[in-house]
Amino acid sequence: DGAPLGSTVIQLVNKLQDIFSRVGSQSTIDLPQVAVVGSQSSGKSSVLEALVGRDFLPRGNDICTRRPLVLQLVHTPSSQTESAEFLHLPGRTFYDFSQIRSEIQAETDREAGGNKGVSDKQIRLKIFSPNVLDITLVDLPGLTKVPVGDQPSDIEARIRTMIMSYIKVPTCLILAVTPANSDLANSDALQMAGTADPDGHRTIGVITKLDIMDRGTDARNLLLGKVIPLRLGYVGVVNRSQEDILMNRSIQDALVAEEKFFRSHPIYSGLADSCGVPQLAKKLNKILAQHIKAVLPGLKARISTSLVTLAKEHQSYGEISESKACVNIVNAGQGAVILNILSKYSDAFTSMVEGK
Ligand code: GDP
Ligand code: MG
Repeated sequence: DGAPLGSTVIQLVNKLQDIFSRVGSQSTIDLPQVAVVGSQSSGKSSVLEALVGRDFLPRGNDICTRRPLVLQLVHTPSSQTESAEFLHLPGRTFYDFSQIRSEIQAETDREAGGNKGVSDKQIRLKIFSPNVLDITLVDLPGLTKVPVGDQPSDIEARIRTMIMSYIKVPTCLILAVTPANSDLANSDALQMAGTADPDGHRTIGVITKLDIMDRGTDARNLLLGKVIPLRLGYVGVVNRSQEDILMNRSIQDALVAEEKFFRSHPIYSGLADSCGVPQLAKKLNKILAQHIKAVLPGLKARISTSLVTLAKEHQSYGEISESKACVNIVNAGQGAVILNILSKYSDAFTSMVEGK
């Protein structure tokens, strides 16, 4: 139910991000993304999958996510099918989502080895679907304390640094994932999110595993922010259990079961605004649209600046395709094309900012 302005802006931002990553200057502009943070097996990948509504991420009660996965969801309203492409496999389109999971696993192994190793090298995946919001999600390895397999002795510090490099970006929205069956005061997610975003204006608390809390306990106060207040609040979710995964329970079944769980629960049924994956998606979309609207002027200014820089570089290097400074851009006459595209986007942003 995103406002037209919101959806257009997000679409434009996605496209821009794409162009920048293709010319290898992805860090030139900090674009909004949504990243998950939390300890290992807190349910980060499960939450992302549920938001996307498809089964495709490695999940389990062991270290599954071992490289950052940058997941760009592209809303394709007119297409009937959902498909996906990896940046490292140009020209190959995936339609079978279980093959996507296999490829994520294979590509993880290629870079990080087969024995629990972790790498900070990204896997980039685009999903085209009529059923998604235009949003970029980042699935990250979870914090672990004790090295296992091929992990180095400083694994905790390394993963911490990797996570921080994403969530410290001032435009990154943070989903701080904490399982309800653990002590919130010890939450790695909230601790790291608090360091990266001390004001809490871009952190959403996500409480998973509400279905497996100790008997006689519930997360009411937690969800209401009475334990650790969070400016943007908390959403509680119920993802598939390990048994559900082993039994191949579908995500649709799981969403139906989640809805039923909350609706029939004596406490959570009264907290409808802070329960369930659809509620999380709604909250996220709203925050994202507001957020992008707020950062647009700065973004526009930076695009204009890079345009000027690119134009100067283009002028001074001309057709010399081997030049070191802008080899990515000038190669094969890409420079002019990119300048052109950037001008268009800059115009689009300008009219959007000034339009209303
Ligand atoms: P990650 O390491 O944070 O990405 O966590 P995963 O998404 O891989 O999930 C870790 C394990 O917890 C898996 O076995 C999931 O099935 C299980 N899990 C995640 N969320 C829930 C939940 O809400 N309820 C239950 N019962 N199990 C969950
Ligand atoms: Mg994971």
